[in-house]
Amino acid sequence: MTMIPMLDLRAEYLHIKAAIDEKIANCLEHHRWILGPEVDNLEANVAEYLNANHCVGVSSGTDALIIALRALAIRDKQQEFFSKEDKIITTPFTFTATGSSILHAGATPVWVDIDPVTFNLDPEQVKRAVEEIPGIVGILPVHLFGQSADMGAIMEIAEQYNLFVVEDVAQGFGAKWNDKQLSTIGDIGTFSFFPSKNLGGFGDGGAIATQNAELAELSRMLMQHGGKDKNNVDHLGYNARLDALQAAIINAKLDHIDDFNNHRRAIAHAYNEGFAGIAEIETPREDGIADKADVHHIYHQYTLRVKNGQRDALKAHLAEQGVSSMVYYPHPLHTMRLFKETSECFGNLEHTEQAAKEVLSLPVEPLQSAETIETICQSVRSFFK
Ligand SMILES: *Cc1c(COP(=O)(O)O)cnc(C)c1O
Repeated sequence: MTMIPMLDLRAEYLHIKAAIDEKIANCLEHHRWILGPEVDNLEANVAEYLNANHCVGVSSGTDALIIALRALAIRDKQQEFFSKEDKIITTPFTFTATGSSILHAGATPVWVDIDPVTFNLDPEQVKRAVEEIPGIVGILPVHLFGQSADMGAIMEIAEQYNLFVVEDVAQGFGAKWNDKQLSTIGDIGTFSFFPSKNLGGFGDGGAIATQNAELAELSRMLMQHGGKDKNNVDHLGYNARLDALQAAIINAKLDHIDDFNNHRRAIAHAYNEGFAGIAEIETPREDGIADKADVHHIYHQYTLRVKNGQRDALKAHLAEQGVSSMVYYPHPLHTMRLFKETSECFGNLEHTEQAAKEVLSLPVEPLQSAETIETICQSVRSFFK
């Protein structure tokens, strides 16, 4: 049996093959593999798309997070790294790199529980954590599954308590909060071009966007050995450049991002209709943010909540029917060994632990056919009959 995959990257390539092949052929003509015109073009195009003042290409979403945090430590603390006493609030319901980047930057992660509807940081809990825990210097919201965190409430808290905000937009290129592109609301935002991300290359890649010139300049230095002149540096930098070939490929894909994101949204809305009336599942909602912001969710993942402990049985049933599904994320970060002695929990994180047991993501391939969508809907419905 051939399984319906979570994504079909080969089909996506074939869909825009001519544009990608041309960009790659162009690289083979000029052979400028380190930074150069491909990376310059991508940075300019991404900045324009986001309406951001600055964009810096980097080697991955993880490096983007580490560099963004290090730039903040240098600017705000005049230190190469944060100290352990500097605490950064983030969500435990995310990919590992969100939390490990805080450790790499020298700070201590403080886990704050999620809102059970949006799976994103709960701003009321964030506010309480800021008031009760000494040493909070910043907030790192993740726009999980392609849906904006409650940026209105988060920015209000940040302004009131003078905290920085780093947006982890690895899953949300093109997603918005009201009329703003994600990454342009906080101090700095980070993207991943990992192949399975909604804007993905053919290998690792990432980017940083910011409205702040100093953070952009520091990020650019850290990305390339720590100085404007790599033979005479100011900071402890990295070799974390965005690869020219990846930049060329992502440039070709950038022309299609709105089209692909809109397909994702249409698939999600079809699933919502297809699952209406099934009492045991909760479908994602775009009206879940408390201040009723207009959220443009791009459904990097379409994630159901399956109640009554039936998630794993539904997953097995779908596999039998030839439908792939995935659990993002089975292990909240605060339960991982790495973070046991290196981080702090605020409260019991009950909504996170519940979500880890109940979530199930279904295939969202932007080019997925209407028949495939219907097959997936029927496969889910047949489990609950
Ligand atoms: C993928 C991802 C990252 C890391 O990006 P890489 O490019 O794989 O390093 C960070 N945060 C989140 C939320 C992600 O989904």
